[in-house]
Amino acid sequence: MLKLNNMPKILNIILNPNPVLRKKSVEVEVKKVNTENFKKLFRDMAFTMLKKDGVGLAAPQIGKNIRLITINIEGRPFIMINPEIKRKSIKKEWGEEGCLSVPRTFGKVLRHFKIQCVFINALGKKDKISASGFIARIIQHELDHLDGILFVDKAKDVKIT
Ligand code: ZN
Repeated sequence: MLKLNNMPKILNIILNPNPVLRKKSVEVEVKKVNTENFKKLFRDMAFTMLKKDGVGLAAPQIGKNIRLITINIEGRPFIMINPEIKRKSIKKEWGEEGCLSVPRTFGKVLRHFKIQCVFINALGKKDKISASGFIARIIQHELDHLDGILFVDKAKDVKIT
């Protein structure tokens, strides 16, 4: 028999303006990471990001104010729980950004060029990543979502297409 509940589904994306996008998200309890509910949430978030052609997705964007993000690294979803930037380069760079919660809007945002980030991975283990350029930009964008910040708050040359 076909188990429909095991199939990933596209989650509804919360659009700006919405108070959910402006709340500070709370940390995920690490012991919850290995539960079926969370595994399903990871799958659904990753599936939603890939289907919507997003480079990243943060939990508030699907209506959950918890510190959980997924980023798209060369077409593969990468889950980060309770992510925290530990080191960042002095060097910053302007780059164009958009957001699934702010459709058809683009603008240039100044971000640290290089970051080092600690987080809990999808297996519930402590992990870390060093990233630069575009991946570092995505992580900083998604981390902002966890603090209720949208890229349009910081962007210049904003254009709506
Ligand atoms: Zn976004």
